[in-house]
Amino acid sequence: AKENGRNQYLLCSSDLKGEVNRQNQLTNFLYRALEKGELFIEYQPQVHLVSGKITGVESLLRWRHPELGLISPGIIIPLAEQTSLINPIGEWVLETACQQNKKWQDMGLKPILMAVNISASQFKNPHFISQVEGVLQKTGLKPEYLEVEITESMAILEFSEIIRKLNGLKSIGVSIAIDDFGTEYSSLGRLKMLPLDRLKMDKQFIDGIGCNHKDQAIANAIIQLGKSLGLSVVAEGVEDEDQIAFLKTSQCDLIQGYYYYKPLSALAIEEILKKETK
Ligand code: C2E
Ligand code: CA
Ligand code: CA
Ligand code: CA
Repeated sequence: AKENGRNQYLLCSSDLKGEVNRQNQLTNFLYRALEKGELFIEYQPQVHLVSGKITGVESLLRWRHPELGLISPGIIIPLAEQTSLINPIGEWVLETACQQNKKWQDMGLKPILMAVNISASQFKNPHFISQVEGVLQKTGLKPEYLEVEITESMAILEFSEIIRKLNGLKSIGVSIAIDDFGTEYSSLGRLKMLPLDRLKMDKQFIDGIGCNHKDQAIANAIIQLGKSLGLSVVAEGVEDEDQIAFLKTSQCDLIQGYYYYKPLSALAIEEILKKETK
């Protein structure tokens, strides 16, 4: 009865009703977007701070709707998560990104890591591990060239289940990065139990470098924490020279940010890789 009451309230409020209709319409559009080929991926390079060379790329989902224009993943992903669309979309991203990485390798370009974002509900799917295995088999990409990025939002799952799934991924040979590190509830006691390879420090700490002493102290602490746990550390959202100088002093491993490259088309990545392939 309580549920009904709430729904009734929703339907009576014209503002909310409008909002719900807009959401429904967008969901319908998204259903068709996959079939119509309106979704695509951009790839943002991850650069080794010392050598300045690309070691990997992160795949970032894009949607160009014929009338609405470019829709950001900040809209697409939550919408997909609310419906069952997150699974087919997540699988499409995984397969397209792996296929692309294999294609670059088949062209004789230097091999790089492909990082793919995995949302909590995608991770929760009982078939997730076999989905990843299936994609690797289908595309022929070796598991060592795939990395999955998970976030602290996985904490909605039972901890033992998280460990079990991550160990499953590790046993296939796929590497694991923890994304947006430090932004949500992070338990260091739990962090040490996760089979991680990489730690991605959120842009918010990078933004504070050179202007906010506390952010700067946290940024440095995160880098040292990651390194002492044997993880490689990626700084995200690096935009200027001062940040680079600080990150060099702190001996951060990798940089992902507009300072080097924005997210790019597969063709643009190909051109960069050609220059870096001997
Ligand atoms: P994220 O995983 O933290 O990805 C990094 C975001 O920071 C990207 O935004 C990227 O374009 C942006 N970025 C990188 N360097 C800079 C910089 O120097 N300055 C600024 N201002 N921004 C920078 P984007 O592409 O809009 O993606 C937003 C979020 O959407 C991602 O955050 C990720 O959580 C989610 N997302 C994107 N693609 C996927 C996907 O295929 N699956 C899932 N589950 N989530 C995705
Ligand atoms: Ca990410
Ligand atoms: Ca991130
Ligand atoms: Ca983020």
